[in-house]
Amino acid sequence: MHESVAYHPLVAANSAVQERSKEGDQADVVIVGGGIGGLATAYALACMGVTVRVLERAAEFAEIGAGLQLAPNATRILRRFDLLDDVRATAVAPRRLVGMNAVTGDLLTTLDLDDVEERYGAPYIVTHRSDLLDVLLARCVAEPSIILETGKQVTAIADHGDSVQIDCADGTGYSTGAVLGADGLTSTTRSLFSDDEPICSGYVAYRGAVPVQDVARHASLDDVVIWIGPGLHLVQYPLRGGELYNQVAVFRSDEFAAGKTDWGTPEELDRRFADTCKPVQDALPSLLRDRRWAMSDRLPLRRWSAGRVALLGDAAHPMLQYLAQGACQAIEDSEVLGDTLGQVAGKQPSTAMVTEAFAEYERLRLEQASTVQRTARVWGDIWHVDGIAMTLRDEAFQLRDPDDFRRIDWLYGERPA
Ligand SMILES: Cc1cc2nc3c(=O)[nH]c(=O)nc-3n(C[C@H](O)[C@H](O)[C@H](O)COP(=O)(O)OP(=O)(O)OC[C@H]3O[C@@H](n4cnc5c(N)ncnc54)[C@H](O)[C@@H]3O)c2cc1C
Repeated sequence: MHESVAYHPLVAANSAVQERSKEGDQADVVIVGGGIGGLATAYALACMGVTVRVLERAAEFAEIGAGLQLAPNATRILRRFDLLDDVRATAVAPRRLVGMNAVTGDLLTTLDLDDVEERYGAPYIVTHRSDLLDVLLARCVAEPSIILETGKQVTAIADHGDSVQIDCADGTGYSTGAVLGADGLTSTTRSLFSDDEPICSGYVAYRGAVPVQDVARHASLDDVVIWIGPGLHLVQYPLRGGELYNQVAVFRSDEFAAGKTDWGTPEELDRRFADTCKPVQDALPSLLRDRRWAMSDRLPLRRWSAGRVALLGDAAHPMLQYLAQGACQAIEDSEVLGDTLGQVAGKQPSTAMVTEAFAEYERLRLEQASTVQRTARVWGDIWHVDGIAMTLRDEAFQLRDPDDFRRIDWLYGERPA
């Protein structure tokens, strides 16, 4: 039963991609990777008059069957591009973010989301990843200036000054005026900028959305609930109007620390969560256990662009998930790229014009996204402390007012254009 909800096939939009994928030869910009960041950027660029080709290595545009929190810094942009109503149609607007101690079961803090829209000009919502991708893909398919291609694994990118050459594993190649690497954590495009590698945190995640009736006991159907404890946490929230329940269980693996290759197994999950409180224990049987994800990030880069090539999304700023911001930051990138590259649309831009547009993109985005990357690590450390540090954290959290947004304004608030 889990399988059927774990993967949403995006059937209609993907078959429309097959029908349209060969249309047109030329595009001003090629985007490598058709995840949330790649498709959001394709649509933002098209809205600004830029022609785009998206090359996705997978056979279909798809997302994993799990939930995604979208904070006002992202939903504001979805609204600007007239996407928010479509996303909201299947999303849930939680009433609160609730922090609980996973061991004692104590309530630590809440963030009241009722006034978020008034405060930040956009809502806080949670959506199924496939539902968001479905909306983005449907818009991209309907947009004549976007060419979408699947089964295109980009293997090489060479900037020749006046154009960029892209080669794919199937022997095809493309020449274009600008390339955006939206190819995620293990980005091929990033290797033009750095020889760094993903840094494994030693934490592993089990995640997925299951029918709500499969969960023996849910913390709440109105809230995003985050249970935090020593070296572990569990996040729970409803999706699709309460039809599905999303659960993400994450823990620090002792077996990883011991250098074992098969680490973070379901048996280790059960061992690590053995001391958690009953509501957390009750959630464990309904966790999807057939797949797990090692949690990795990278350190911030000094540059995301050079010549006619730039990075966005996880390719540019892969982060640990503790602020629930990776996709939100990719959506922020898409808006700024639309605005900056949009200014050279239709002008057969010189290298100087593209470089300038990318420099402006970096100026507007790099510092903020890098701060989010760094802060996500610290936030994870705070969630996972033990002993006296846990006691002090809990006391500090319990002193917070539910409507105290002082430490969040920098993230959710509107930034100057
Ligand atoms: C447990 C967990 C929970 C999270 N929760 C949240 C949350 O609540 N809110 C939030 O905002 N973020 C969250 N994130 C982060 C978010 O999932 C990512 O930041 C986001 O999906 C990144 O999107 P992207 O398009 O940049 O990269 P990806 O989603 O990785 O997409 C990259 C695409 O490029 C393709 N590709 C890769 N290499 C090539 C190539 N060589 N040629 C062609 N195509 C290629 C891939 O197939 C893929 O489709 C979470 C992450 C995790 C791990």
